Amino acid sequence: QTSDQERWTGGKVKELQRFITLSKKLLVMTGAGISTESGIPDYRSEKVGLYARTDQRPIQHGDFVRSAPIRQQYWARNFVGWPHFSSHQPNPAHWALSNWEKLGKLHWLVTQNVDALHTKAGSQRLTELHGCMHRVLCLNCGEQTPRGVLQERIKLLNPTWNAEAQGLAPDGDVFLSEEQVQSFQVPSCVRCGGLLKPDVVFFGDTVNPDKVNFVHRRVKEADSLLVVGSSLQVYSGYRFILTAREKKLPIAILNIGPTRSDNLACLKLNSRCGELLPLIDPH
Ligand SMILES: [Zn+2]
Repeated sequence: QTSDQERWTGGKVKELQRFITLSKKLLVMTGAGISTESGIPDYRSEKVGLYARTDQRPIQHGDFVRSAPIRQQYWARNFVGWPHFSSHQPNPAHWALSNWEKLGKLHWLVTQNVDALHTKAGSQRLTELHGCMHRVLCLNCGEQTPRGVLQERIKLLNPTWNAEAQGLAPDGDVFLSEEQVQSFQVPSCVRCGGLLKPDVVFFGDTVNPDKVNFVHRRVKEADSLLVVGSSLQVYSGYRFILTAREKKLPIAILNIGPTRSDNLACLKLNSRCGELLPLIDPH
């Protein structure tokens, strides 16, 4: 005997299965909702997520570049939060999408997330629209450093720095006293001494136009678009929905709660990504 809930879920799985079976060149766009199931909090309105803010508000790109105290606060928080943030692992939704790629179902994957969970799951046909916290960029010479390598350099720069005092909040956020922040030594580029910034798009900055054009081309090549775990509130992702609509591509949305494009979708599913995607047969 099946409950109403089970029948409802079964019907939704069949609808999504039909959508996926009909697609030969599927483009998938993911957002914060896919990573909350891996334990990463969804700072919905703050597009780069964790640590990219002061205590009160998201960090602005211009402030970060102009202000040494803001960089000091940012890097101190980022340093303390890194071990927790980088320990998150892909969930069944990330693994399912990686598997779809291996089986030739996925034309391209675009993510708004900066947590590297798609890469950890093995996805390669991937554009990280807002960059990735696992890379650090020199704003002067462009040198790239893996974030894990920088963590060791920061430890050497701050041998006596005491970070445990106020510790981590349950969601992994970091609270530090003014004294702690002021004694923190900020790392700079080993090659040129320039400013270092995670390779992510902060508020007030724009996504690289070449990257945007690249994704527009992938959307135009696709025959359908599936949105996973995004409310599409941020324009940088929403614009690809507009391109898909211009091309009259069928759009399916898997997201808990309303999105900016529900009216454009032929299929809307209010389900958890990690529960639904592994049920789909990508052949
Ligand atoms: Zn440099």
